Amino acid sequence: MTALDRLALDPRITVHARAGIDPRGRCVVYRMRRAQRALDNPALETAIAVANALEQPVVVFFGLLERHPMANLRHFSFMIEGLAETARELMKRRIGFVARLCPGLSSDSEFARFCADWRPTLVICDEAPGRSVSQWQREATLYRSAPLWSVDADVVVPSRLLEKEQFAARTIRPRIRARLDQFLKPVGNREVRVPWDGRADLGSLPLVTELADQLHLDRSVAPAHFQGGTAAALTALRRFLRDRLCGYADNRNHPDLDGTSRLSPYLHFGQIGPHTVALTVRDADAPARDREAFLEELVVRRELAVNFVRYNPRFRSLASAEPWAQRTLSEHARDRRAYLYSERQLADAETHDPLWNAAQRQMVISGWMHGYLRMYWAKKILEWSPSAAEAYNICVRLNDRYELDGRDPNGYAGIAWAIGGKHDRAWGPERPVYGKIRYMSFASTSRKFNSRAYIEQWSG
Ligand SMILES: Cc1cc2nc3c(=O)[nH]c(=O)nc-3n(C[C@H](O)[C@H](O)[C@H](O)COP(=O)(O)OP(=O)(O)OC[C@H]3O[C@@H](n4cnc5c(N)ncnc54)[C@H](O)[C@@H]3O)c2cc1C
Repeated sequence: MTALDRLALDPRITVHARAGIDPRGRCVVYRMRRAQRALDNPALETAIAVANALEQPVVVFFGLLERHPMANLRHFSFMIEGLAETARELMKRRIGFVARLCPGLSSDSEFARFCADWRPTLVICDEAPGRSVSQWQREATLYRSAPLWSVDADVVVPSRLLEKEQFAARTIRPRIRARLDQFLKPVGNREVRVPWDGRADLGSLPLVTELADQLHLDRSVAPAHFQGGTAAALTALRRFLRDRLCGYADNRNHPDLDGTSRLSPYLHFGQIGPHTVALTVRDADAPARDREAFLEELVVRRELAVNFVRYNPRFRSLASAEPWAQRTLSEHARDRRAYLYSERQLADAETHDPLWNAAQRQMVISGWMHGYLRMYWAKKILEWSPSAAEAYNICVRLNDRYELDGRDPNGYAGIAWAIGGKHDRAWGPERPVYGKIRYMSFASTSRKFNSRAYIEQWSG
């Protein structure tokens, strides 16, 4: 068995194309998409391990879409801040970094051109839960002379080991816990044996930011109140440990106390990895109850969301809901709605409900809504829309447009939970519009925390 065969046995790795190693290959290429970091990145570390075994350099390729169909200035400015730092850190580790501007809806053609020029011996990608088998098959045809592997870099327990869609947190929790000893370990940041010799025309730090100026972005959504990048993520993590981890179990559902980590944008863009966060929290000097409550969200709930997107191809629509939820929603489809709002009115926070409006404004202005209110926010959109299917679509569009952490499995799972009963159960008594979907009222939600302070903070 060769060193490469041994590496490929790692359960985080999926081998998509088994082409033989090209003796004329010049480097190992890591096509970075989701795990946009140089620190604690299992995909990057796999690339380095392979390159070291072959005595070759590593180069990272990143394709920037000139016209992204969904992302806007808010998302791109945060991402570019992170990528500029990642490029710098990779270069410090003697790894090449190439960013290319890509016309069209995909970076595939640019990537194929890059491979034709640079002849990789092996191509490594990071895993993305929404990618289908056929997309991976297509990816394998972009450069047929090298094997293609993907590495599940942004979950603790490799998502393919869970095999199928999990029904709820209670079914995934024991499966994850049983594997934590094996997978919740430091990723390790290897020495690179053969440095990338670099070439000026190949892209460098200024190129990433220069490219950003050429993007055709929706500039109507302003940058968020977050600094992008791994250093900022580590600072946010340190602050959370210092100020908010003690008490997290009690405070996390209090939007007025701001008791959560606010790490979701960094996790979404892969600027920090779940291993770094989970190990830091696990070993922190804080009550076990708080550490466990946080790890439940970061590992169990987050990986349940990844599982949903990986194994339910209809995750962006109400069609992903469980049969009981579909049934109860259709039984109540004709119920009278006390209020009906258009997507524009919702986007502009023009409803009769001051708490909902405040939550919407927090999202639009700051780029991040408190998690407790995200539940309320989506449920009210169900109540105020002509149909549950339309409510689901509006939630996805607003969430993905304004949340800095939008377009994430957590978002799709959260919306599916709020509207489609996903990972939940039927609740009684049956209510208009909701049927047996769990209900949240203004009165009970606003009583659970100091909602007046929150509404004041985010009033128009
Ligand atoms: C309708 C709705 C929409 C949502 N949209 C998104 C989204 O677009 N992007 C997103 O990342 N999260 C989303 N969530 C999940 C959750 O609300 C956010 O992850 C969390 O509020 C982020 O804040 P934090 O980092 O301070 O969380 P913390 O409480 O500090 O938790 C730490 C991390 O654990 C994970 N986590 C926390 N709560 C959940 C949860 N309920 N489900 C899955 N993972 C969780 C996140 O990665 C989070 O960063 C949504 C939830 C709902 C109900």
